[in-house]
Amino acid sequence: MLSLMVTDRHGIAKPCSSTAYEQRSVAVPFGGCTEPSNVKAGGHACPIRFQCSGCGFYRPDPSYLPAIEDHINSLRADRERARVMDAAGFVIDNLTSQINSYEGVAAKMRERMAGMPEHERTELEEAAAVLRRVRAGGDHKLLPITVVSKKEA
Ligand code: SF4
Repeated sequence: MLSLMVTDRHGIAKPCSSTAYEQRSVAVPFGGCTEPSNVKAGGHACPIRFQCSGCGFYRPDPSYLPAIEDHINSLRADRERARVMDAAGFVIDNLTSQINSYEGVAAKMRERMAGMPEHERTELEEAAAVLRRVRAGGDHKLLPITVVSKKEA
């Protein structure tokens, strides 16, 4: 279901099958990434320092919404610090552009979710919460194991 809600950095829908999404993308902090060399490196080789909202390979879905919102707040705090530090204009401009573009991604995502029937939105939010737990490594489901008694040789 979440794979059908994947968008690009402009908020344009880029739905795909869940298998294709898993095979061709890697989870990075604020969404999926389809940049081939970074996918191959397991998400550890971003060539442009994870400025995903400005990247053509960015594929976020609603499970990343809280991470995107947290990142927007961090970027705002960084911009305030940069201003206090009398940082060069290009530093402030870069942070402002990132804030604006992530805000755009989040707004389009929320708008799309608001247009869904309530039961679908609830299902989507539940699936997103499970996925976040899995990503955070907090989901340690045990495999169902049948206990078989050892036969005497
Ligand atoms: S900036 Fe682009 S290449 Fe880098 S992690 Fe984000 S989506 Fe992938």
